[in-house]
Amino acid sequence: MTRQRLFTPGPLNTDPRVRAAMDRDWGSRDADFIALTAELRQRLLGVAGGAATHVAVPLQGSGTFMLEAAVGTLVGKTDKLLVVVNGAYGRRMAAIARRLGLSVETLDHAEDAPCDLARLAAALAADPGVTHVALVHVETTTGLLNPLELVAALCARAGKALIVDAMSSFGALPLDLAATPVSALLASSNKCLEGPPGIAFALVDRDALEAAEGRNPSLSLDLHAQWRGFEADGQWRFTPPVQVTAGLVEALRILEEEGGPSARLARYRRRFDRLAGALEQQGYRLYLDRACQAPIIATFRPRPDRPFDFAAVYGRLAAQGLVIYPGKLTAEETFRIGVIGALEDTDFDDLIAAIAEA
Ligand SMILES: *Cc1c(COP(=O)(O)O)cnc(C)c1O
Repeated sequence: MTRQRLFTPGPLNTDPRVRAAMDRDWGSRDADFIALTAELRQRLLGVAGGAATHVAVPLQGSGTFMLEAAVGTLVGKTDKLLVVVNGAYGRRMAAIARRLGLSVETLDHAEDAPCDLARLAAALAADPGVTHVALVHVETTTGLLNPLELVAALCARAGKALIVDAMSSFGALPLDLAATPVSALLASSNKCLEGPPGIAFALVDRDALEAAEGRNPSLSLDLHAQWRGFEADGQWRFTPPVQVTAGLVEALRILEEEGGPSARLARYRRRFDRLAGALEQQGYRLYLDRACQAPIIATFRPRPDRPFDFAAVYGRLAAQGLVIYPGKLTAEETFRIGVIGALEDTDFDDLIAAIAEA
């Protein structure tokens, strides 16, 4: 079989060491596995510098399970959530809150516009009932980077708790919980951490989590109970994804060996610049302004002077084991190429050549 090369937002290519680490069995009560779980929680906190104030709570499932768990655990019936929306994932967070019957408003932006701080400040001033703000750090819909540090400072000044969907930034973009006031940072195993899919996690402010006992109407998605479970005996409350835990721990060791998030970001940036430069030469255009573009995933507009058939191009690339992604914009025909994952620079050369041919 041709090797699949995944130029997508995840799941992604993993390092052979990550796959090898998963090649054995563990029981959930094995001392070895309890030690792996402890290492996982400690390494996750270490990535964002949150050890003094935050606790790491892993959860079985994909990223969306964690969004639902965190909103349901942290936002109460008498609270109100304001979601900054500039793409599909912001809309998802608002949809989750509505499903839970919570009070929620959105601050809607165009899909190419980062969070407008003046508008956010005005919205908070106009509605003192808002207790929590939710922000997507990198909107994977397009690759848009929101100004997390500025939003966090604004929310702290206004006395609002901030919930951050850092799904496609955690592990690459700098995030320092000691300097950036964030109540909960949510991410998953299979994006910039380059681990296997199946675990999501939250780094949650300990005081906020302690105050959330019994709040989540869901038993399995209750982050407070999940945390208490780990603290009590080092074990997961329900059947743990043992292989995925081992794979993710190995992926976190590799991240550290690589030089941490700043080294990983430099690798992604190098690939991003190479890819964007080459495709711009071929006549494609980046959808976003460079100023608000995260080097994680690129959204391209096709050349205006030629018909573009995404399905045909996708098919020709896929036949060579090169997987790209359709656009996710509501308004425009675009396509997306992710630069994260355990890929080599030569994989990008192959992709660039194949697109030129297709
Ligand atoms: C990937 C992602 C999610 C979670 O998606 P799942 O398919 O549930 O893993 C949430 N938010 C953002 C910004 C993402 O990139």
